[in-house]
This record gives sequence, structure tokens and C-alpha cells, in this order.
Amino acid sequence: MPFTQRVSQVTPSITLEITAKAKALRSQGIDVCSFTAGEPDFATPAHIVAAAKLALDQGKTKYGPAAGEPALRQAIAEKLQRDNQLPYEVPNVMVTNGGKHSLFNLMLAMIEAGDEVIIPAPYWLSYPEMVKLAEGQPVIVPTTAATNYKITPEQLRQTLTPRTKLFILNSPSNPTGTVYTPSEIRALAEVVIEAGIWVVSDEIYEKILYDGAEHLSIGAVSSEAFARTIISNGFAKSYSMTGWRVGYLAGPRDLIEACSTIQGHSTSNVCTFAQYGAIAALTDSQDCVQEMVRAFAERRQVMVAGINQTPRLSCATPMGAFYVFVDVSQTGLNSLAFTQALLEQQQVAVIPGAAFGDDHCIRLSYATDLSTIQQGLERIHHFVESL
Ligand code: GLU
Repeated sequence: MPFTQRVSQVTPSITLEITAKAKALRSQGIDVCSFTAGEPDFATPAHIVAAAKLALDQGKTKYGPAAGEPALRQAIAEKLQRDNQLPYEVPNVMVTNGGKHSLFNLMLAMIEAGDEVIIPAPYWLSYPEMVKLAEGQPVIVPTTAATNYKITPEQLRQTLTPRTKLFILNSPSNPTGTVYTPSEIRALAEVVIEAGIWVVSDEIYEKILYDGAEHLSIGAVSSEAFARTIISNGFAKSYSMTGWRVGYLAGPRDLIEACSTIQGHSTSNVCTFAQYGAIAALTDSQDCVQEMVRAFAERRQVMVAGINQTPRLSCATPMGAFYVFVDVSQTGLNSLAFTQALLEQQQVAVIPGAAFGDDHCIRLSYATDLSTIQQGLERIHHFVESL
């Protein structure tokens, strides 16, 4: 069947593909150590599950407003004011089917054919594909370990053209775990304001920070920066709610109205009772988040030490999220060859950096238990020694 140009230029999600492959091997009884999708291994906290169950019992099983349950929109607006110093009100906020869907709505509402979207690499693999689906032009700006995988204000400025519409900022970053400091965020905000472009800040990992790293939302820098900012966020990573598919988008009212219209004709409302779980996530105690972050911090130490003790592999210590981005170039293999051979020979599943725009590296998620991490590291060690 002939497909549209739009679809034929888009590649499938490698993270989801390799994760499914690792799960399929496991179900065949093969003992796979999986460091694939960024999916916390914890159960969703009990009070969140209880709130969704209660909503089911109360019959909250019907269609709701496309932009989300009013109580959840309110809780999100309050969270953005309280945690991020972003003065959003309910009409500035909508609930989406996860962070990915927030960004997808945004691209459809904002990007015209040929509009350029600046994406620092390494990037989360869905960004360029979403831009292409909206018929925009992803403009990839490579960054390296030497600058902690951060785009500099000079790089951003040099990449601007009259077609530049949007800049995608993701801190803490997937796949590198890098976190922009507040002063770096302020410097990038200056360029955004000067250029009169938009910035979408993907803040899905904002709560997962280590060693005192600080998250500053670019919209909180100044009222001028706020006016050019759109926020994408969700519940999956901080509250271990990956399968719930609840996220949100915040920005200017007209944009949120446009995105709600798109959503009204595509997915309708997000699962109603899931939204009640999300309300509990935001309004109840945040201790569960801190407990999970403590566990990630411990796993991070083990992961980083194990990688750096392996000859020919190296990684920086991530300051946020739950990924390590490991340079495998000294092994002589590119990321795809490394990933494939590692899975075949040692049954360790990782994501090739090529998917994120850097073929020298692989990504490992440490949102998994310590014993899998320890066993996986041993296998990786054997694999590299055998090369
Ligand atoms: N965002 C997660 C990851 O990068 C989930 C997988 C996906 O949606 O691509 O692993």
C-alpha cells in the first residue's frame, strides 16, 4: 500500500522495539538483563492506585472534557505555580495521554510545513520524528561529552534562521542525564527571547535529580521567557505511572485551546479514572517520589562505577533522570553493532545511541533493580573483554 510521505520518512521507536524484544526473550525463558525503556520498576504508589480505584467505584468511567478533568487541570496549574514558579491558570493547562502525546499535540498545532525545530543531540528519539510527522524540519545540533552534552547559547544562536519556530529543551535529559544549571538556562532564555522563537521545555524528569542538582524551568526566568515557553510534563517517570498514560501541556491559552481541539478529534479525553489517580499523585504526600529518587541514586552509583571499571567503556555521572550514556567507541564497534552483539552473546538489552543521534554511545536505564544491574554489568564486562 502506498503510504504518505509524512509516514514513510518516520522510523519506528527503537526504545519500544528493543524493550518488546527483551520482554519476548524473557517470556521464552531466556534470562535477559534489560536496561532498555526508561520505566521505573516500582509499583505505582498505593495511594494513587487507591484514588483511581475509588474513581472507578464512583462511576467515573464516562467521557470527560477533552482538555481534562477540571480538578486535575486545577491541581496541575497549582503544581506549576508552586514547584516551578510558573503563573499558569487552569485555561493554560491540558491533560494529555502522556508526555509524548503533549509534544505530539504541540507539533500538530504549531508547526507548519518547512518550519525549523532546533533539537540538541543526543535527543530523545521521538522529537525529530514528531517534527517530521508535522511536516516540519528537525535541525539537529550535535553536542559532545566535552560540554556535558549541553547546547551552548552560541550554538543556539548560530542555528537560528528565519524559519526557526521552536527549540526543544530537555533537562534533565533523556538519554544523557545531563542537567542544565540555572545560569545556563538563563543564558538560553536570552537567546530565545532575542530571537522571538518558542521553546518547549520537556520537564518529565524534573524530580529525578542527584547531588544537589537544581531544576529551573526556562519559563520561570522572566516574564518575557514565560511568554515564549511551553511546558510538557507527565506522571510516568516521577510516580512510576508509565502505563497510565497521563501527561500535560501548559502554555498560552490559545495554544492550549488549539491542542484541545486536536485532542477532541483524535483521542478525546484521557482515561477518566486514571486522571483521578493523577490528582492524588499531585495533591498527596511527595514522599514516594523521594523514596524512588533515593533508590535511583544508589543504582546510579553502582552503574556508573561498573561502567567506568570496564576497560574501553566510559560514562559521565548523570545528574538527573535514570540513564547512563556510555561511550563504546574504544571498542571499535558502533552503537548498533555493540547493542546487537551484546544481546546475542550476553543477553543484555540496551539502546543504541544511534537512535538518539550519537552512534558512539549506548544508553542504559538504571530504573531497574540492583541485582539486575550487578549481573548486567558483569556480563557487559565479559562481553567487552571478549572483543
Ligand atoms: N521515554 C522512555 C524512554 O526513552 C519510554 C520509551 C519511549 O516512549 O520511547 O525509554
